Amino acid sequence: MGTTVEGKLGHNVFKIGKERHITVNTEICNTKCKDKVCLYICPAFLYKLDDQGNVTVDWEGCLECGTCLLCCLEDALEWEYPRGENGIQYRSA
Ligand code: SF4
Ligand code: SF4
Repeated sequence: MGTTVEGKLGHNVFKIGKERHITVNTEICNTKCKDKVCLYICPAFLYKLDDQGNVTVDWEGCLECGTCLLCCLEDALEWEYPRGENGIQYRSA
């Protein structure tokens, strides 16, 4: 673990709920978005392309930073904080 970003993030705990808190409107991605910045700006690298070339997000690992929501200029994301006690719990060690 050590002092790397990955090491520090490795201390955190995730409580995964059943409801996804990020939804991607792939029709908007496929028709309006050329740059697909979400594939590059997520600090946890949770956005990927599937076999059909559609954008997916592994929401269970979300750090709740909101970067993807701010950077998606085509308004293709529905994003809310996980409900209840679900989501990430930041730990320093
Ligand atoms: S930046 Fe927004 S519109 Fe573009 S691919 Fe990502 S989610 Fe879709
Ligand atoms: S909120 Fe942050 S960690 Fe979560 S998917 Fe968006 S960019 Fe990635």
